[in-house]
Amino acid sequence: MLHWLTSLIGGKRAGQTPASEKLPCFHCGDLVKRRRVVHVQFDGAARIVCCHGCEAILKTVEQMGMQQQYREQKRQAAASHDE
Ligand SMILES: [Zn+2]
Repeated sequence: MLHWLTSLIGGKRAGQTPASEKLPCFHCGDLVKRRRVVHVQFDGAARIVCCHGCEAILKTVEQMGMQQQYREQKRQAAASHDE
């Protein structure tokens, strides 16, 4: 979880965005090519997701006002994925 974050920041610092660059989906974490990402407004910020399925999930969470529960679930999932 941490290394995609640092590679994302590192890529920004380098100021280069190659067409083959892949970004992690905000929802499921799948890597998706930059030109194929789907943008969705969620929890007060623009998020990047891999497909319209993930977009629909985030929109639903947003509509139901369950962003806090979503964040909490993500944190727990990330913790359990730690090595
Ligand atoms: Zn996804």
